[in-house]
Amino acid sequence: MDHSLCWIRRDLRLHDHHALSAALEKGTTTVVFVFDTHILDKLKDEDDRRITFIHESLVEIEKELNKKGSSLVVLYGKPEDEIPKLAEKLKVKAVFANRDYEPYAKKRDETVRKKLEKAGIEFHQYKDSVYFESREILTGSGAAYKVFTPYKNNWLHQFESSRRSIPEYSCSLKNLRKFENTESILAQDWFKIIGFKKNPPLLIGGTKIALKRLQEFTDRMVDYKEARNFPSVDGTSSLSVYIRFGNLSVRDMIRVAISKKSEGAATWLSEIIWRDFYQMILDQFPHVADGSFKPEYDKIKYSGEEAHFKKWCAGETGFPIVDAAMRCFNETGLMHNRLRMIVASFLVKILLVDWKKGEEYFAQHLLDFDLASNNGGWQWSSSSGCDAQPYFRIFNPYTQSEKFDPEGIFIREWVPELATLPNKNIHRPENVPGYPTPIVSYELNRLKALKMYEAIKKSS
Ligand SMILES: Cc1cc2nc3c(=O)[nH]c(=O)nc-3n(C[C@H](O)[C@H](O)[C@H](O)COP(=O)(O)OP(=O)(O)OC[C@H]3O[C@@H](n4cnc5c(N)ncnc54)[C@H](O)[C@@H]3O)c2cc1C
Repeated sequence: MDHSLCWIRRDLRLHDHHALSAALEKGTTTVVFVFDTHILDKLKDEDDRRITFIHESLVEIEKELNKKGSSLVVLYGKPEDEIPKLAEKLKVKAVFANRDYEPYAKKRDETVRKKLEKAGIEFHQYKDSVYFESREILTGSGAAYKVFTPYKNNWLHQFESSRRSIPEYSCSLKNLRKFENTESILAQDWFKIIGFKKNPPLLIGGTKIALKRLQEFTDRMVDYKEARNFPSVDGTSSLSVYIRFGNLSVRDMIRVAISKKSEGAATWLSEIIWRDFYQMILDQFPHVADGSFKPEYDKIKYSGEEAHFKKWCAGETGFPIVDAAMRCFNETGLMHNRLRMIVASFLVKILLVDWKKGEEYFAQHLLDFDLASNNGGWQWSSSSGCDAQPYFRIFNPYTQSEKFDPEGIFIREWVPELATLPNKNIHRPENVPGYPTPIVSYELNRLKALKMYEAIKKSS
């Protein structure tokens, strides 16, 4: 029987896993994870909570593998060195992995492929983290979509044409290579090895808890269309971290979405399609990782002050909904989608700060940080992206607050200085001791933003 390696990366689970399923079908396999120094070296906080989330997910995987007499091999280093070295040491015929569409990942995988090929080892990659890959949903002329709605219509058309038969990549774990691993994730202090500190996030990593949450959300999905807009309501699934690290498969989510017939379910499916859309954009237009989708937007001269950016980060702008969102984010690593849109629009179009600075701050702190979705969200908010909101649409932080946090429940939770204000004053407070006065005038800066964008429109 052929022996192989199954290299897991952003797909930390042992069920409905395309690469693992393929590896187990062909022969015996060993599952391996590499703590990638290229990625870890860029993380600024030694107590980055995503490391603990990954560690928890790996511990769960190790325990499952142990039950089958196998183990998870965990390595630390550059994958382009570590994977070929292990493959040669274990004399495997092939390495299996799921595709990743981020520019760094594509380059890394190409290097690994070449090194393995030189050693006579095959490298097989599979579609897994998205439902449809970027070349599967194309316009009539065979080009990539730049607008979401026709992309979504085509996505749904192809989904319906397949009679909604969602593939399930079953993983028969009896074909795992059996061995005892003395250097397992459980036996060693991996935090020390990789130079990080354990810092449990609010969400515990792992598939068991992810599937439980998915199940629990199924009952609430009917209300999603309305409830998803209110930060103080438990109206969304809160599954983004689990899907980001692959504790769940995208197919797990879609199966649930189509199991119910309601507007809520259809809206939720649509959000999952947005995720595929942004993965497609990143794959087809990789320049978005370094700059605006619309290149003319890179010419904008943002006049915002560094001090204002710092106040935005700290949640001290004097705009209650923005401050509540940022303070919650700094404490939890999570932010509701409505708030992401409000704070992003505010940073770019009211504080006049380059969206790339906000994108980077989110990338550093978001537990669910995903290059494609984060970049897509920032480019949408700043109007620099494909199918972004028009530049003249500028969220009003006061009316957004009145509409989506009418009783100030969310604001009161995160901005205690304002907790005792009546509802009518909480969205735009005046002279509250201990709370900053607005660092800019919304009305004036809105006009400055319009001028800034119009200048670019004229020159291009
Ligand atoms: C400025 C900005 C930055 C963002 N950065 C990220 C990011 O780094 N990672 C990330 O996963 N999402 C990001 N989003 C999208 C969205 O805010 C989150 O996916 C959502 O808040 C996660 O909460 P949930 O799991 O409860 O989502 P639900 O509302 O329950 O949605 C289900 C799933 O669909 C996907 N999804 C939902 N909305 C979007 C969207 N607009 N774009 C892409 N996928 C979506 C997510 O995987 C989510 O878990 C960003 C949005 C904005 C405006």
